[in-house]
Amino acid sequence: MSTARTVLETEEHQALRAAVAALGKRYGRAYMTTVVREGNHTDELWAEAAKLGYLGVNLPEEYGGGGGGMAELSIVLEELGAAGSPLLMMIVSPAICGTVIARFGTDQQKRTWLPGLADGSLTMAFGITEPDAGSNSHRITTTARRDGDDWLLTGRKVFVSGVDIADATLIVGRTEDARSGKLKPCLFIVPRDAEGFGRNRIDLELHAPEKQFELVLDDVRLPAEALVGDEDAGLLQLFAGLNPERIMTAAFGIGMGRFALGRAVEYARTRQVWKAPIGSHQAIAHPLATAHIDLELARLMMQKAARLYDEGDDIGAGEAANMAKYAAGEACVKAVDQAVHTLGGNGLTREYGLASLITASRVARIAPVSREMILNYVSHQTLGLPKSY
Ligand SMILES: Cc1cc2nc3c(=O)[nH]c(=O)nc-3n(C[C@H](O)[C@H](O)[C@H](O)COP(=O)(O)OP(=O)(O)OC[C@H]3O[C@@H](n4cnc5c(N)ncnc54)[C@H](O)[C@@H]3O)c2cc1C
Repeated sequence: MSTARTVLETEEHQALRAAVAALGKRYGRAYMTTVVREGNHTDELWAEAAKLGYLGVNLPEEYGGGGGGMAELSIVLEELGAAGSPLLMMIVSPAICGTVIARFGTDQQKRTWLPGLADGSLTMAFGITEPDAGSNSHRITTTARRDGDDWLLTGRKVFVSGVDIADATLIVGRTEDARSGKLKPCLFIVPRDAEGFGRNRIDLELHAPEKQFELVLDDVRLPAEALVGDEDAGLLQLFAGLNPERIMTAAFGIGMGRFALGRAVEYARTRQVWKAPIGSHQAIAHPLATAHIDLELARLMMQKAARLYDEGDDIGAGEAANMAKYAAGEACVKAVDQAVHTLGGNGLTREYGLASLITASRVARIAPVSREMILNYVSHQTLGLPKSY
């Protein structure tokens, strides 16, 4: 373990990192490639990670979780990614949905969902993106209206990950405020097989086991208890879930970047076409060194964001989580690009398995909030510059 890590991480964190890395090594890229090729899901890895307590490490102990926070959960995802086998659904199931329910759910919702999310037997997807809203989530139109004690939910979502394997999807909708007539955000738990809840797979050029879906909600009838927590706390709930999402996407990007960099370094050390291995040429070595520095810097910001979040500083965590997601997305894209280049022609072969990461790494730049929207956030919120939109 490097000195930097011992300064920044407790012994428990280091032990967790080492244990997850060992699990990841047993699965790794070969496992993911087989799962994707055969059209399967990561059930074995998901179940084993859950059994070892890794998936619920951030959830409250009284519901079977580990009682930790985003610091621990981000270590798990980063290390699985660094081994070549990231679990994308960790970003949504324990991180967003688990957090929102643990912090804002009713007792009944906590009892129904948290033990399963913690032991991996239940999974929840998260749907906010809409075709006509995209980055502008103020524009979402999925609307819930009362029908007796029930809710009727209508709208469309796009790019929602893992809806086919998730037991339910946490849908961000709006209800009409009775007093002001204004639409306000609210979150609903929609079971996978609810009537009127349709899904169509979106065909992405992504080499990943988790698929994305367009969702059509056509007057989906939901009982009163499908609404998460309090009708007036939707915005708070949303923000409470979005910071973990950004921290975990940073972990996803850092893990993938580390995996690609590791492959490239190994290759550069041994591949020889002149007198010395290609890694001795600075044109190859320096970009790899830069990639390593960028990934380390991104991790520092991710650790800061996780710490602020775990200490209950939602506002401070908001800025840090955005910056961590930005830094990790950029570091991931650059590390993958340089890794592919380092391998020359082999960078594009299926055998070395790096080329497909070019598309995968772009996910960390686009989702859940794009690079530009983070730059907008920092421009306006941090620097106080005026808005153009
Ligand atoms: C693999 C994958 C998985 C995903 N999983 C989920 C999921 O589980 N749940 C979910 O809800 N969503 C999910 N998404 C959706 C994702 O969050 C969105 O794609 C993302 O928020 C961007 O929205 P958009 O695609 O509509 O792009 P748009 O909003 O249309 O943006 C297009 C481009 O314009 C830029 N742009 C937009 N507005 C501005 C502005 N004001 N200033 C400067 N530039 C701007 C953007 O940065 C971007 O480059 C997923 C996406 C992918 C690719």
